[in-house]
Amino acid sequence: MNRRIFRAILLPALLVLICCFALFVGVMYGYFSQTLEAQLENSLLLAAQGVEQSGEAYFTALEGDFRLTWVDGDGTVLYDTQASADTMENHSQRQEIQQALSSGMGKSIRNSDTLTQRTIYQALRLTDGTVLRISVSYATALSLAAGMLWPAGAVLLLAAALSLILARKLTKNIIAPLTAMDLEHLPSRPPYPELQPLTEKIRGQQQEIARQEKELADKRLNMEFAEQNRREFTANVSHELKTPLQSIMGRAELIENGLVKPEDLPRFAGNIRRESNRLLLLIQDIIHLSRLDEGGGMESEPVDLFALAQEELAALQPIAGDISIDLLGQSVVIQGVPQLVREILHNLCDNAIKYNRPGGRVVVRVTQGEGKAILSVSDTGIGIPEAHQSRIFERFYRVDKSRSKDTGGTGLGLSIVKHAAAYMNAEISLESAVGFGTTITVQFPL
Ligand code: ADP
Repeated sequence: MNRRIFRAILLPALLVLICCFALFVGVMYGYFSQTLEAQLENSLLLAAQGVEQSGEAYFTALEGDFRLTWVDGDGTVLYDTQASADTMENHSQRQEIQQALSSGMGKSIRNSDTLTQRTIYQALRLTDGTVLRISVSYATALSLAAGMLWPAGAVLLLAAALSLILARKLTKNIIAPLTAMDLEHLPSRPPYPELQPLTEKIRGQQQEIARQEKELADKRLNMEFAEQNRREFTANVSHELKTPLQSIMGRAELIENGLVKPEDLPRFAGNIRRESNRLLLLIQDIIHLSRLDEGGGMESEPVDLFALAQEELAALQPIAGDISIDLLGQSVVIQGVPQLVREILHNLCDNAIKYNRPGGRVVVRVTQGEGKAILSVSDTGIGIPEAHQSRIFERFYRVDKSRSKDTGGTGLGLSIVKHAAAYMNAEISLESAVGFGTTITVQFPL
């Protein structure tokens, strides 16, 4: 970070520095050259007047920065303020001299071989045909720049040092709000708007993790609940099995020890048979329930609800006694598991008969409406008190234990109905009034 910011500061700073330097030198140099040329021209005109008037004598009185050369019309040097004229070569080939001879005025600029010096020449033809030339030498831009290498290096070093200090400070300032940020409780506005996508992403991931954690906790809770249910069920089952078995054993022992009078034997045997039957029913119900608990494996197929109800009611007719049973409605075909539909019908109708009053009535309806097949079983029986209505679908839950047992109930019938309905995505509803009767409705999706 530090190094990056350092580079980000130093490079543009250097670039600006170099550009400024080049611009400055270029502009100044151009201005300086121009002024020099103008000055040169003025001096040349002045000197020309002097030479026209006084000839060579003019030079001896002359003092100044410029070099003056007086050349004859054929290029022979007549006089030079900085060298002896006779040692100088013929100047007829010099550009400025040629120009002056042909047009009156000449000018040229030449760089020295080493490119460190530059000389400007201006020449003027005098009335007698000779040429007066003025010249001045000065450092080229290149040599000027070269001369400034050392100071430039120093400025460079200074810029680098300043950049380094600035980068350190900037990095610290930039990072401070970031390190101060609490990732557990992200602010709704991060210290820099550029961080918004990042914080949003982090927040999204945190929410996802929280959701997964909650799901896991829920799953664990569900598992604990299921485990608790299973334990309760096992305890209940053991208890329910033990009671009839103990009664069977007690009676069998009495018979074994010859403590039962021969005329009482049929009654004892009848009791033992009834208790055994109860045990059988109980075991059957437990097997059905555990099969439903395991779930799966049961294939759905088209099932005619009305036809199955007819079959089940016919099978129950023998235990109905003086209770009348009616089946209303019409054939409705649902997609379901025939065995489960049978169990629902059997348990509901069985209860409607068992918990009825003498001479009572049971009405089973099979109808169709709004994408649903509706099965309802109504009785004119004892009804279910409000307080018990929400619990009768629990395993082994009975409103009146002794009545349930007297009628051979296991306390599992409605629990089986509930599970079987859930397996086929059917909904159950209950309506009941004590002393008037009960209606249980199952709605199957079509
Ligand atoms: P059971 O084997 O005891 O009938 P169920 O699970 O079928 O067990 O029913 C649970 C309890 O709900 C019954 O013991 C009874 O008290 C009550 N119940 C069920 N159906 C009816 C009904 N049609 N009328 C009155 N009470 C009912």
